Amino acid sequence: MASYTLEGSTGTWEIVCGLEVHAQVISKSKLFSGASAEYGAEPNSQVSFVDAAFPGMLPVINRECVAQAVRTGLGLGAAINLWSRFDRKNYFYADLPQGYQISQFAHPIVGKGVVEVTLSDGSTKEIGVTRLHLEQDAGKSLHDQDPTKSFIDLNRSGVALMEIVSEPDIRSPEEAGAYLTKLRQILRYLGTCDGNMDEGSMRADVNVSVRKAGEEFRTRCEVKNVNSIRFVMQAVEAEAKRQIEVWESGGEVRQETRLFDPSRMETRSMRSKEDAHDYRYFPDPDLLPLVLEPDWVSRLKASLPELPDAKTTRFVSEYGLSAYDARILVMEQATADFYETVARGRDAKMAANWMMGDFFAALNRTGRSIEDSPVSAANLSGLLDLIADKTINGRIAKEVFEAMVETGEAPAAIVEAKGLRQVTDTGAIDDAVEAVLAANADKVAQYKGGQEKLFGFFVGQVMKAMAGKGNPALVNEALKAKIG
Ligand code: ADP
Ligand code: MG
Repeated sequence: MASYTLEGSTGTWEIVCGLEVHAQVISKSKLFSGASAEYGAEPNSQVSFVDAAFPGMLPVINRECVAQAVRTGLGLGAAINLWSRFDRKNYFYADLPQGYQISQFAHPIVGKGVVEVTLSDGSTKEIGVTRLHLEQDAGKSLHDQDPTKSFIDLNRSGVALMEIVSEPDIRSPEEAGAYLTKLRQILRYLGTCDGNMDEGSMRADVNVSVRKAGEEFRTRCEVKNVNSIRFVMQAVEAEAKRQIEVWESGGEVRQETRLFDPSRMETRSMRSKEDAHDYRYFPDPDLLPLVLEPDWVSRLKASLPELPDAKTTRFVSEYGLSAYDARILVMEQATADFYETVARGRDAKMAANWMMGDFFAALNRTGRSIEDSPVSAANLSGLLDLIADKTINGRIAKEVFEAMVETGEAPAAIVEAKGLRQVTDTGAIDDAVEAVLAANADKVAQYKGGQEKLFGFFVGQVMKAMAGKGNPALVNEALKAKIG
């Protein structure tokens, strides 16, 4: 991949970027309490005494949240730390009743891993994962409910988050987008985070610096809480351009926390960067260190689903797909499963073409997801079978498919109801050929005079005469026999 650079008045600059992703763990209850972790409930309806930080309440670790973090670590090919510890990260905020967040600072549950991304030119790149740790989410301040008051919703207080920190390996907006896309895909396959950025269940802090080729890293700024992949890509670019201007005008980039404003495509200073010592981290005295049994980790590993990279490789070898097609079909687990149902025991390449062509177009057009597709996997399979056993030809299949999208009915029923069976009766085909040739004597003469292109015209006319239902191979054969 040609490296991505930005031009300034003093020459060429390179972007350096690392992402800290907060991914909300899929679990029934919170990290240290039994309150529901479900999204979207009435404010403050899912708050235990622990989440509200009543005096004397004690946290109790949720085993499922730990399992989810371990699964995620394993899915990222990362080291699982059998011993980890919870620390208190102390700060004051209205939506943080404890006055501290329970997090993992010095000893995270997951160590180094890697995410391989594929870029638009087909090249691949490995982005290092530094660590993954478990922590509590804070509550939510609502500033838009009342003209003079702010409200606090503690439903999110105490929900389990995984913070996944990348190495500063990202060098362009595209790489940042590809990394987040891939990470989200892996989390969704694992079932450890739903990745819904618009509901806030995945959000990214974007660390950006710029440098001249060959230099050491320069000072970075952190753009907080960016909530869509597109915004992350835009924030990387906007922040890098801002820093280039600062450096080139003789200034110095100061380490700080910034916010991205998508409507103005710029970042704004929020506060100067806090350091670890500002948080007065210390081991949480209410919690024992977290010790994992190696057997338990092995069992979790054995139960992981097939992940996107492995599935892509298998689709290429098992179904003869191009890597590009395979990647599109494994983008979502549900799409991959749908594809396999249709492809198994059938023409796998043809199944892929139908899915990536007419099927995806129909989903787009109707605004449906694969889960509530009007065309079921069984029905698309049925359509391919009708083509394979020559009940219908490819052209009629398109018509049948459109009727399937509209009615959700099975293809065989549509073919019968509309009388779309392919005509393979050579007598009927011969009759149609004769009629077309008789009606176009002038063209037949031209054809015989050397205008061979006209053959296609005759095929078209015969098909038209047969309402599109002729078997194309037999129509060709019959025409050749007559005027060949
Ligand atoms: P903190 O916890 O204070 O935010 P970390 O050292 O954990 O600091 O780094 C946070 C993120 O910043 C990581 O994703 C890392 O890759 C990224 N990062 C570190 N140095 C740089 C740099 N010079 N330029 C861009 N990103 C950086
Ligand atoms: Mg940070």
